[in-house]
Amino acid sequence: MTLSGSRPLIEMRDVRKSFGTYEVLKGISLSVNDGSVVCIIGPSGSGKSTVLRCINGLIPINSGTIRVGDFAVETLKSDKALIPLRHQVSMVFQQYNLFPHRTVMQNLTMAPIQVLGEDPRKVRDRAAALLAKVRLTGKENAYPGELSGGQQQRVAIARALAMEPRVILFDEVTAALDPEMVSEVLGVVRDLARDGMTCVLVTHEMRFAEEVADEVFFTDRGVIVEHGPPATLFKSPSDPRLKDFLDKVL
Ligand code: ADP
Ligand code: MG
Repeated sequence: MTLSGSRPLIEMRDVRKSFGTYEVLKGISLSVNDGSVVCIIGPSGSGKSTVLRCINGLIPINSGTIRVGDFAVETLKSDKALIPLRHQVSMVFQQYNLFPHRTVMQNLTMAPIQVLGEDPRKVRDRAAALLAKVRLTGKENAYPGELSGGQQQRVAIARALAMEPRVILFDEVTAALDPEMVSEVLGVVRDLARDGMTCVLVTHEMRFAEEVADEVFFTDRGVIVEHGPPATLFKSPSDPRLKDFLDKVL
């Protein structure tokens, strides 16, 4: 193992975040190893999305530290300073957030070309390969509105991959989908996990978390109440708050 491989890819230490006077994250510490799949579960409003947005530098934190690779995220204040982080971290949202007036191909190629300054031809070749990976070959010229929810979410995942990140953050990516489309999207995430892509997943799909996660973190009211391998967390939870949560969702 190399030296750089011996420390986690992501490390959050005692992160606190308030919106106004309301403290949403009350000292969150977690780490994510290279190539691992980490799931964050917990009740609505417990701070799961906020954790992802802090890791991605989308919102500033009040105290604590967040390191992604070699970047101290909490010190990256300007959009320009965040560009190196954009090379490393991609995020996929519940509501896809595709550009509606751009084709599928343009959705995949815009950021690598405009933000990362990559060669357009190379980016388009890579985008075509990624569309094959998410089983959407042939949809290059479609607009998001012409696709199903499941197809749009797979475009969003391909768009995240087009940045060639070291880690992808998934925020409840199946929550807005009709039930019949959930499995096609989870299938793509499962493929990525098996390929060794580092993934941090906020999800309500407990069976899926149990299947793919190396480690699961349970959050409640801004703290991590319990964490561990899924076999332990789901089968023998120790904290009553986790037991109560699992009783409700399983
Ligand atoms: P989860 O993803 O676990 O449902 P969130 O991280 O989205 O929870 O939100 C945690 C809490 O922080 C919620 O009470 C939410 O209303 C609040 N919150 C999130 N974002 C903001 C914001 N930009 N301004 C004010 N409050 C926010
Ligand atoms: Mg959320």
